[in-house]
Amino acid sequence: MARETGGESGRSQVSSNPGASAVVLLGCGLSVVLLAATVVRLWPSPREGKAPITACRMNLSCLGKAMAAYCRIHDEKYPTPEKWCDLLIAEVKGLPAGAFRCSKGKDGRCHYAMNPLADPCGAPDVVLLFESKPGWNQAGGPELLTTEHHDVCNVLLVDGSVMTVGPDEIGGLKWMSEPRPVRDVQQGATPAR
Ligand SMILES: [Zn+2]
Repeated sequence: MARETGGESGRSQVSSNPGASAVVLLGCGLSVVLLAATVVRLWPSPREGKAPITACRMNLSCLGKAMAAYCRIHDEKYPTPEKWCDLLIAEVKGLPAGAFRCSKGKDGRCHYAMNPLADPCGAPDVVLLFESKPGWNQAGGPELLTTEHHDVCNVLLVDGSVMTVGPDEIGGLKWMSEPRPVRDVQQGATPAR
């Protein structure tokens, strides 16, 4: 099992200070510009001869940065799962269409699917995107996951890291956050004296 850090956490600080919203907005704009530069640099040209599995991991890392950028401008929410490809293309500048395609995938515009249970504010080790058969705006769980491209499967987690999992490791993937502890749910209740 291989795993690497995805870089930016993609989290914005929530503040009750009214003046902070402008700062956050400015930060978003800057992030999108930086993201565009990062995406262009991350996307390997065919001449670089990257191994297909490495290029595929870079695709997922790139899509993870696009997801984080989307979250920053949408109040910490991922795109609607049934439209995630369209929404990322429409709203994240500089995201190359090639980032949606694995070079070992067959026809089709996209070889990745989104886990609709992933929550940007939830557990960081939950699956966000994973390799699947061809399909645009695919959303679902393990039933869509495939190892046909590389005999293993590349997976992007909520924290932006990319994992390569073998067939015997797929069962260990986490698809949803644990329920919140009771003490968090009751936060704000008046403590007994
Ligand atoms: Zn792949």
